[in-house]
Amino acid sequence: MSGESLRALLADCGEPAWRAEQILQATWQPYIEAFASMRQLPAALRDALDARLVFSTVSAAAEREADGGNTMKLLCRLRDGLTVETVAMESPARTAGRRRATVCVSTQVGCAVGCPFCATGRMGLSRSCTAAEIVDQVRLAARALHAHGLGPVTHVVYMGMGEPLANADATLESVHVLIDASSISPRRITISTSGVAPGIARLAGAAPGVTLAVSLHAATDELRDRLVPLNRAYPLARLLAAVREHAAATRRRPTFEWCLIAGVNDSLDQALALRRVAYDCRAHVNVIPMNRIEGSAWGPPDAATSRAFLEALQGIRVTVRDTRGGDVDAACGQLRAELEARRVLRPDGTLSAPRRIAVT
Ligand code: SF4
Repeated sequence: MSGESLRALLADCGEPAWRAEQILQATWQPYIEAFASMRQLPAALRDALDARLVFSTVSAAAEREADGGNTMKLLCRLRDGLTVETVAMESPARTAGRRRATVCVSTQVGCAVGCPFCATGRMGLSRSCTAAEIVDQVRLAARALHAHGLGPVTHVVYMGMGEPLANADATLESVHVLIDASSISPRRITISTSGVAPGIARLAGAAPGVTLAVSLHAATDELRDRLVPLNRAYPLARLLAAVREHAAATRRRPTFEWCLIAGVNDSLDQALALRRVAYDCRAHVNVIPMNRIEGSAWGPPDAATSRAFLEALQGIRVTVRDTRGGDVDAACGQLRAELEARRVLRPDGTLSAPRRIAVT
């Protein structure tokens, strides 16, 4: 809820407007789990909030830990029983003494884009998330981090289930609420798209401070048509023009995501083509060795092939992202798919097993 609509509700309850700030701050405290815990508010106001508002639109259906407890994957149950995945990761920051805690949120239940290397793509699209459901994933993850002695949340990435710019209204509203109500700076928010070119232009106008990431995965139309089927609607020339315009309008460096798949997009030809487009867009490249998914023959390349691919990107800013949470099926859609296959996840989003699922 934005500050403005909260102030309107308070006026309706006969409460002063300054309470809005107090309530918004409290909703972002990771140790507060209900309006009833907001002891700084009069009891009558706590009751009024409880009667009129929903404290959270998501709850944790299942939780998995990895990386010695530094990565948590949450299966979030929405109020209609559908589920999405959210990941919280804490890692040492580049600046000494300052750690970073990143939350990866889902924007849709499933996804219509259908990338063949992605577990979510196999599910199809059930529906889009509301802005509240996106924001509440961050709050839920903040509480999960706090419960493990980690956090606070410093970064939010829109890289979970779904295509954020196919749900642009809710995505942008959630970004505005995050910036307005939490202490997360826009520069620490990244929206990742599989290539919705018109959405990229809209993003530049509506949220110029946030970072744009593009799931590129192929640098020629022929291969990208196969790996990211949305490419048939917005081919590379159109997509890259939108990326350049976004960079010119926002003065923000874009990121190209590259899921490295053995024998598919790990050739030197693809590396050199990637180098050209990254140079042209002044983009940072994030290489992510593929997380294996059940029932797929695809996987990450061997060390020598990966090294050769990275060497061919000389002169470009490149980060190799570690596959944090590989032991918790942390690539998007994997945890839900596994729990469904094991018939642990019921259709109403509840589990027929303990909520905390141990990782051995
Ligand atoms: S990779 Fe992203 S865009 Fe592609 S199917 Fe998966 S969630 Fe959708």
